[in-house]
Amino acid sequence: MDFVFQRSYRGPLKGVLLDWAGTTMDYGCYAPAVVFFEVFKRQGVPITMEQAREPMGAHKRVHIQKITQIEAVRRLWEETHGRPPAEEDVDRMFAEFVPLQLQCLADYADLIPGTLEAVADFRKRGLKVGSTTGYTGEMMQLLRAEATRRGYTPDATVCATDVPAGRPEPWMCLENAKLLRIFPMESIVKVGDTLPDIFEGLNAGMWTVGLAMTGNELGLNEAEIARLDPETRERKRRRAYERMAQAGAHYVVDAISDVPPLLDEINARLARGARP
Ligand SMILES: [Mg+2]
Repeated sequence: MDFVFQRSYRGPLKGVLLDWAGTTMDYGCYAPAVVFFEVFKRQGVPITMEQAREPMGAHKRVHIQKITQIEAVRRLWEETHGRPPAEEDVDRMFAEFVPLQLQCLADYADLIPGTLEAVADFRKRGLKVGSTTGYTGEMMQLLRAEATRRGYTPDATVCATDVPAGRPEPWMCLENAKLLRIFPMESIVKVGDTLPDIFEGLNAGMWTVGLAMTGNELGLNEAEIARLDPETRERKRRRAYERMAQAGAHYVVDAISDVPPLLDEINARLARGARP
């Protein structure tokens, strides 16, 4: 056969899948970072906040394991314990991590400015609002209640512990699509603040939007960002934009409040037959 016909979706967007920490709540994505920092300190292996943040977006147990694989952390661990970190160490630290994280989650549950307005805009467009997270089901139960108290309740939430593997694998996104009963995947947009968020969306065949300023890339809250001198702020901002674009994000913007106008652009691209 010399010619084949290819089906292409020309319809509008149907849904948006939002990350949690650093995207809709917890400006600067602090809650997990401070607990990873504490868990390693308790092992006699103090890490930097930067090291604590490096694998952000992953399942929290995987995150701990990835920190132990950072060269400098590994070396310090060997100096302290006389052997390299093992699976049992990761298990023990994750067991310590869970209650510590649960204890402080509510302290970091304030919504990022613009979240309620953006979600209202998504709903006005008739879009379903799903969510994915590296937090466990137990943590999400608590956070969802905190978010609801503040006026935000997504239509679906899928945790890393609900699927065979969290980010960068696509299962949390696919599970959202199933729960929300929306398809094809190119009619859904993934929004998140980490590189694994972008990979998760791309692996699921979705449009992806990276948030550069409110999450893990800058790793600073609103007040801290305001205190930066303009040059430093611009340098950090540019670095975050570059990293997310390099990861393959279709769009990079500062914050969730910048997402609504992008949806018009994506709809126009879809109407022309473009795919993510
Ligand atoms: Mg996040």
